Amino acid sequence: MIIFDEKRHAEEILKKGFKTKNKTVFETFILAKYFFYIGLDETKVKQRIIKFYEKFQEDFNLDEYYKVINRTINYAINSKLKTDKKVHITQYELDIIQSLNNLREQKLAFVMLVLYKFNNFNKFTVSLEDLFKLSELATINSKTRLQLLHKLTSNGLIDINTRGKRWVKFSDKRGISVLNINDFDNFIWEYLHYIDEGKFKKCIECGKLIRITNYKNKYCDSCRSIKNKEKYIKYNMKRK
Ligand SMILES: [Zn+2]
Repeated sequence: MIIFDEKRHAEEILKKGFKTKNKTVFETFILAKYFFYIGLDETKVKQRIIKFYEKFQEDFNLDEYYKVINRTINYAINSKLKTDKKVHITQYELDIIQSLNNLREQKLAFVMLVLYKFNNFNKFTVSLEDLFKLSELATINSKTRLQLLHKLTSNGLIDINTRGKRWVKFSDKRGISVLNINDFDNFIWEYLHYIDEGKFKKCIECGKLIRITNYKNKYCDSCRSIKNKEKYIKYNMKRK
């Protein structure tokens, strides 16, 4: 799982508990950074984290967790919460991607580019599962996955080192942005929309792309859930 916006992630786990089973320490780290970010001091951060564990971790035992919690908070003090990041794609980059001869390669190259720029042009690791899910290619088999990656590597567009870190070789640091990614939910849609592949329209509330499956849909998922909540509250107020 790639976390594109740690503020949003923290707010979600505060409501519903951890989203992963084996990365709870990392999620605790994000939570601690979030508490510092909203201005709490170290003592308060510790209290809030313990409260969170008591609420969501079954059989929570402070004796067992205090070392992890303390260490995580110590790391979090000096780390910045990653939030509100944006990625800009230039014409040069889009031209390179569009010159690839099949859509699968294009999607994969686009996602690799966005991840590389999201990581500030640093080499990064990504699981194949995440990579192909983000590319909306999750259903293809592992042999084809490797072939696709190999194709891009042999074209000189991407590369990987012996430690499994990947990078993109056609990124453009100076060009003017043609495509802006402000929200990373289904960001592949930005590319598909750009090349006129598939039917999309914009959410009338926030401008995010939505795939047209139902013509009545006016909102993206997150705006729709907010609207539904508002409706529900209004309805209940009327009943009282
Ligand atoms: Zn929206």
